[in-house]
Amino acid sequence: MANKPTEHLDALDGRYIQMDTTDYVDFPAPLCEGPIRWKLLNVSPEMGAWTAYFDCPKGTSFNRHIHIGPGEYFLTKGKMEVRGGTDEGGSTAIAPGYGYEPCNARHDKTYFPVDSEFYMTFLGPLNFIDEEGNTLALVTWEDAQGAWEAS
Ligand code: ZN
Repeated sequence: MANKPTEHLDALDGRYIQMDTTDYVDFPAPLCEGPIRWKLLNVSPEMGAWTAYFDCPKGTSFNRHIHIGPGEYFLTKGKMEVRGGTDEGGSTAIAPGYGYEPCNARHDKTYFPVDSEFYMTFLGPLNFIDEEGNTLALVTWEDAQGAWEAS
């Protein structure tokens, strides 16, 4: 049986996750290209926040989205091209690297040119959009929890 704790998501108590003994699950396929996996570490209903750790093999990417609220990340392994990467006016994070993405940051493609891993806390939902900016999926902390528990 997979070690996929959910107790930590239930109550507004202090929480602790042993990350190396928590199994990855597949990140929802409609939200990314390629086999991205994740571990949901925390949800914070009182803040509308959620925190996760992602495993992004070479060549994967997250689909186009807008951060409704700000987010902070720590790239622990590999390389992440945000907003097209440095070559296209965005930023390229190289591990170990920290980044802050402000409210309403639009990420048309968040791409991983090599095997990468990162930790991120999202304050507020992610709005996955099409090219014209129409909402395809609004992912709140509650949706993140639902996806984690359903996987
Ligand atoms: Zn983003």
